[in-house]
Amino acid sequence: MTTDAANEIAQGTELLDKVLERTPTTRVVSFGYDTALNLGALIREHHGPRSVVCVADETTWAAAGDRVGQSLSSLDQVNRIILPARPRPYANIDLVHQVRDALAQTPGALPIAVGSGTINDAVKLAAAELETPYWVVGSAPSMDGYTAAGASISKDGFKQNLACAAPYGVIMDLHILKTAPQIMWASGFGDMIGKISAIADWRIADVVGVEPVDPWVRELAERSALNALSDPSGVGARAESALPSLTVGLLMSGLSIQAYNSSRPGSGAEHMFSHLWEMEHVGLDFDPPLSHGAKVGIGSVAVAALYDELLQLDLTAMNIPERVSHWPSIEEALERVDALHSTEALRNVAASQLPKKHPEPHELERRLRAAVAAWPSLRAELRRLMKPADEIRDSLVKAGAHHHPHQVGLNKDRIRVDYLRLRSTRERYTSFDLAEETGVLPDIVSTMFGPGGIWNEWPDEIR
Ligand SMILES: [Zn+2]
Repeated sequence: MTTDAANEIAQGTELLDKVLERTPTTRVVSFGYDTALNLGALIREHHGPRSVVCVADETTWAAAGDRVGQSLSSLDQVNRIILPARPRPYANIDLVHQVRDALAQTPGALPIAVGSGTINDAVKLAAAELETPYWVVGSAPSMDGYTAAGASISKDGFKQNLACAAPYGVIMDLHILKTAPQIMWASGFGDMIGKISAIADWRIADVVGVEPVDPWVRELAERSALNALSDPSGVGARAESALPSLTVGLLMSGLSIQAYNSSRPGSGAEHMFSHLWEMEHVGLDFDPPLSHGAKVGIGSVAVAALYDELLQLDLTAMNIPERVSHWPSIEEALERVDALHSTEALRNVAASQLPKKHPEPHELERRLRAAVAAWPSLRAELRRLMKPADEIRDSLVKAGAHHHPHQVGLNKDRIRVDYLRLRSTRERYTSFDLAEETGVLPDIVSTMFGPGGIWNEWPDEIR
């Protein structure tokens, strides 16, 4: 290990330990080389002589099983649930119940997830249903959910973030993580590039009086992004030197979500693009299926493109009474968005989510007055915070990550519609809501897809 890597691990560990003082569930984050070898001792220290059940699939067990098995050999009883690699396990509610029922065969045992997104989410929710703490040994730097509360599980036909507690302990062993395929490193990078617009969207929601920013959590979320995004080319080359900062960023981001008890610090409109595409099963038939981080990365370019246009506008010139007088009722708003949605499931989502944030005229007027009053300073702040869409895309390219909708089979007309219907898919207030409420969204979309606009050029094969 180089001195640089050793320093980075030491600094990251110090930072993580400080954050752990504020998290409700996670007590241990063990990050560095060979940390998986301490798993058995840590479990004994924190839970006494307890039996454990490892949950992995054949792929993640091949990556981490030797180290985990060796470390746990000092415990009295160690059982394993190894899911087949093919067909690839998919994080749906059936998998959660399968894991839960298998875990219940060893009453009182401590579950240990050995894997990344799918295994971790399934065990997280299964452990919550069994009312037991659990641990996770990460197998790839692919997303920030290791340290976050909530599990992303497909239920009733689409992916949902289901509430459940974060793990008690998280082991990130760089010897294991470095063996993950580059596509999983790129996914972690894509998930983290989304934190920039997540924070910007939160700040907008703050200014219009919808959801105040927690300064401590915001700073943590920003630092997590700075860490994770510091070496895109290193991520692209799968260089071991890029791994500590990417991993610390992912861990801190999840901890910020856990500390705030909501995904708000790490999830804005870019995650809504990802969820929308997830609900429509985009890339589900790819091998491997299109990752969460890949979708978030593409969504981040799309959101940055909206910001590029929004931040050029002078919202202080807006005629507020005129805007309020043309504001649609919730019934009209739902009717418009229903015409844009392709499935009944999405119309149901809109019907449940949009009313939670669609303002009555007096509330709209209050939000608009707040936005207009703050606009000169807010615009300057957001310009410093947000990266231009070109820059976001270039970083993703360097990181070997997905960066354009055409790479996942989405055509130009589809993305245009997605811009117009996105806000109906979740109650969370974002830049898209400000653009809609101020009435600038349709013009922004026309500009982005018009001559000279970012989406004007599109590869021929998927027009
Ligand atoms: Zn994410």
